[in-house]
Amino acid sequence: SSINSRATWAREYATTFTDTSAALGRRLEGQVAVITGAASGIGEATARSFIAHGARVIIADIQDEAGTKLAKDLGPNAHFVHCDVSKEDDVSESMGLAVSVYGQLDIMYNNAGILMPKSMRGFTGISDLNLADMHEVFRTNVYGVALGIKHAARVMKPQRRGCIICTASTASIQGGLASHQYTVSKHAVVGLTRSSASELSEYGIRVNCVSPTIIMTPLLELVLCNPHLKKKLGDWRTSEAGCNLSQTFLSPDEVAKAALFLASDGNYISGHNLVIDGSRSVTGSPKL
Ligand code: NAD
Repeated sequence: SSINSRATWAREYATTFTDTSAALGRRLEGQVAVITGAASGIGEATARSFIAHGARVIIADIQDEAGTKLAKDLGPNAHFVHCDVSKEDDVSESMGLAVSVYGQLDIMYNNAGILMPKSMRGFTGISDLNLADMHEVFRTNVYGVALGIKHAARVMKPQRRGCIICTASTASIQGGLASHQYTVSKHAVVGLTRSSASELSEYGIRVNCVSPTIIMTPLLELVLCNPHLKKKLGDWRTSEAGCNLSQTFLSPDEVAKAALFLASDGNYISGHNLVIDGSRSVTGSPKL
């Protein structure tokens, strides 16, 4: 009888993992996602990919013009909402909107993030640490992610399923890549991912984060307008080419692929930090 029950288990297991819509083509058919910071860069690439895979997406961002234009370009399966992730009402309303516009919420992608406050002109050493800058970075990168997980959990717990993804960075596993403020904020994203994955697993909710290396997006504008950091970025680019698989900076699409993989049903991956850097973080890295 134990052989029979094992055979039954194996059949059920195989059924779970042979979902053809997930394995081929449209991997998010019928699902609804909220993506923060989706008006640009990684969030935009992910919105495009999720929609191509059959999802409907709420584009949640503070950039009203770019977000509205993108939603229009993407058609009826995209809807823009103004959402500042550091404001709790905005975050809960964007999730409410997923339910009112599209009837459900399956995926929450906490992707919005900033490199540094606009007023911060460069990366300062620890002995000059400015707590006001730290608070500013934390408001979006840490509190924004915490609020996103909180309100997604409120919607997903009663349905006993859901997937939450957060964007961390290779600065979540290494020091010296960015400012202290940013590095600490991204370590915190991994902490939030692990602690909420642990709590929410009993409700069938998976929580993971992705950690990209440098990706050419508008986030880097503040680096490019600082001559010192611009030079460092150039040095990084040269050495990056030598030590990652792609031989160049990665594109936002590479992060979108990882998010799509984590969002797809039929896996037990939770509490994980998926690094997307073509081996950079294990190869050695000059400081930016
Ligand atoms: P981006 O600047 O192109 O996009 C970020 C988006 O977030 C923008 O549309 C912006 O308006 C939005 N945003 C900023 N603050 C917000 C807030 N308070 N509420 C809602 N939206 C807000 O940058 P990106 O590179 O696509 O960044 C996306 C994520 O990837 C960030 O969390 C960033 O830290 C992370 N990341 C980026 C890189 C990189 O090199 N570009 C590397 C690792 C991780």
